[in-house]
Amino acid sequence: MGNARSTRTATTDTSGKRFQRVTPSVAAEIERQLSGRTRDIHLDDELAELFRERAWRQTAKIVRAWMFWVILLDVVTLALNAILLPLHTVSQMLIPALILPPAALVTALAFRRPRAPWQQAAFVVAGMCLILLSVALVGVNTGGEFYERHLTIMLFVAVTAIIIFPIPLVWAAMIGGFALSLYLVFQLQNPGIQAGSALAGSLFFACGVGATIVARRTATILAQKTFLLELRDQSRLADLTEANTRLELLARTDPLTGVANRRSMMETLDRFWGTVKPEKNAAMLMCDIDEFKRLNDNLGHAEGDRCLVKIAGIIQSCLRETDHVARYGGEEFLVFLPETGEQEAAHIAENIRGRVEAALLPNPTSSVAPYVTLSVGVATLEARSTTVSAEDVQSQADEALYLAKRQGRNRVVARTFPPDGLP
Ligand code: GH3
Ligand code: MG
Ligand code: MG
Repeated sequence: MGNARSTRTATTDTSGKRFQRVTPSVAAEIERQLSGRTRDIHLDDELAELFRERAWRQTAKIVRAWMFWVILLDVVTLALNAILLPLHTVSQMLIPALILPPAALVTALAFRRPRAPWQQAAFVVAGMCLILLSVALVGVNTGGEFYERHLTIMLFVAVTAIIIFPIPLVWAAMIGGFALSLYLVFQLQNPGIQAGSALAGSLFFACGVGATIVARRTATILAQKTFLLELRDQSRLADLTEANTRLELLARTDPLTGVANRRSMMETLDRFWGTVKPEKNAAMLMCDIDEFKRLNDNLGHAEGDRCLVKIAGIIQSCLRETDHVARYGGEEFLVFLPETGEQEAAHIAENIRGRVEAALLPNPTSSVAPYVTLSVGVATLEARSTTVSAEDVQSQADEALYLAKRQGRNRVVARTFPPDGLP
């Protein structure tokens, strides 16, 4: 059963639901099967294995339950006969009746765990043959009125098994064929009836058993169709879930730099302000590339884009796992540092500024230096400033950035909210 795993993968949606997805070749095969007539459905090796794997639990339960009930009925019938019938009749029944319980028990036990299809077939067919033989021999051994009655009961047992067991057509045909052969052979030896009558009876029952086998095939095909439809639905659902996840990610990501976009940062801030305890502090860094327009004008827009990507990477490399960065505007990046105090925020800001400077990305006509520099405005929300909103902290960071620009660029300027919430 292990091979079937390579034909599908599992996708999990945001609510944690898992959907099976099949490989494209299996998906194409499912479509092909479902586009034809139901009666023409024929599962190839891969799909047949998947079907068996999915149907296994149900098949095993049914076979086991049926076997236990047959054992129970056999024992109860024997006990009743022992009470109601003369001793010599019961003794004639006893030996053949004892074949049934072990045969049924072994079959039931064999269906306690999954096995190769041929092993399952061997157990169920051999088990059924022994059970049918047991029932038939009880009648044949006892003779008289019991002879034909038990042969008919034997056919009835075979028919119920074929109807109830969700087994392939060939297995069902083998069970049905064996039951009819037993019936014919023993009826031909029945001293109570003519050979013609035995043949006619066998033909009559053959029609019934044949119809049952055809019904079993129809039931199996319908089960296979349901399985194909389920597999297709699950696979489509998995595709859709993955597409949704991709779209969600795209909607939150800046396509140029790959960092979060403004919308995503707003959600992050809302989440933090909505859930975190007021005694926690936090900081924001508003980072703006100096004289970026000149870089664009001199080196071209494409070079400007490459510079933005590099700056985004440098900022990210300076952050901890809990920090967030978003491209906030054209050449502006907003960094959010949860649970971070004034000193730590200033240190991180200085680290970012220094690394950008050290990268020596060219900006030949910048008034600051012939390479790219960054100005950073820092705003820190100290603990217990309950009245301060995310927008307040952000506008403080903007103001700090404005001061950094005014003071000559390529620098970090910090502003802090005191504990009472007023800047
Ligand atoms: P300052 O030091 O005062 O920040 O000067 P500046 O030139 O960086 O600022 P300004 O606001 O005058 O110019 C920002 C420039 O950023 C203008 C715009 O062409 C450029 N820009 C915005 N988005 C992009 C982008 O996606 N790619 C590129 N290459 N340039 C962009
Ligand atoms: Mg700007
Ligand atoms: Mg700028």
